Amino acid sequence: MPDPAPRQVSVGLDVGGTKVLACAVARSGNGWPEVLHERSAPSEPALGTRHLLEVVVGLAGDVRAEYCPDSERLGVGVAGYLGSDGILVHSPNVPALEGLDLASELSRRLGVEAVLENDANCVALATLAARNPAPRDLVAVTLGTGIGGAVVMQGELVRGAHGFAGEPGHMVVDPGGIPCVCGQRGCWERYASGSALARCASEAYGTAEKLVEAARGGEPAARELVDEFTRWVALGMSNLVNLLDPSVVVLGGGLSEAFDVMAGGLRSALEDNPTVAHRVPSLEAAPYGAAAGAVGAAALAAGWI
Ligand SMILES: [Zn+2]
Repeated sequence: MPDPAPRQVSVGLDVGGTKVLACAVARSGNGWPEVLHERSAPSEPALGTRHLLEVVVGLAGDVRAEYCPDSERLGVGVAGYLGSDGILVHSPNVPALEGLDLASELSRRLGVEAVLENDANCVALATLAARNPAPRDLVAVTLGTGIGGAVVMQGELVRGAHGFAGEPGHMVVDPGGIPCVCGQRGCWERYASGSALARCASEAYGTAEKLVEAARGGEPAARELVDEFTRWVALGMSNLVNLLDPSVVVLGGGLSEAFDVMAGGLRSALEDNPTVAHRVPSLEAAPYGAAAGAVGAAALAAGWI
């Protein structure tokens, strides 16, 4: 008797400014994608394009060989803006990716078709794959090295005229403020990304993780720093909700691990915004946490979305 729900396995990668994450993801029948295995390596973009490419090829090759050597496609989420030809046009936080035809390189070296997508779009796709019914109007915000974003309206990813829609990290929230890698000052990601939280944490706590842990434990000074940081996250999020009226806002990226310490502050900021108060969306941590981008890439490559 044939298996009524054959299991498919797909590999997805998330290529970010801090690390490259590879996940083997399985789905049985119409069930939820399930992470079988995850493995990561530092991306070290300062070491250049060739090094980063070796890291990506090494991880993808190893995980694929172990979990789905016969798969024909590989999903790759990248921290950058993809042109319609699949070339990375702009990647402020991972300049080593710019101009790289990553899909062709991976296809040539691994013998598979590589399907590329913006990393925050992959987080949105993971959310769609993990929910039934999938939300039709969704905003995903990823807080990592920088801030990424994705917008799903009426069930479709919004791409814009050049493929860059839904990227809120370089919205200016403080004119004349902190200089940004993009050349402007006061971009949202200078105040509300994982890097920004790490900067707040550096003097007294060493790392963002230790600061979050202290805040979780109720230490007043840590709580105040996290609350101040959360106000910056809420400022941009509130603007996005005002503009787009989503039913769900998903918080992804490395800082999705800190969702519990920020959720209250984010919700009250949205409730205090008079033009958003009567339509506050559901606020959720991305499914699969920091692995959401890789899971979304795997789901895209496998055709689960
Ligand atoms: Zn910027």
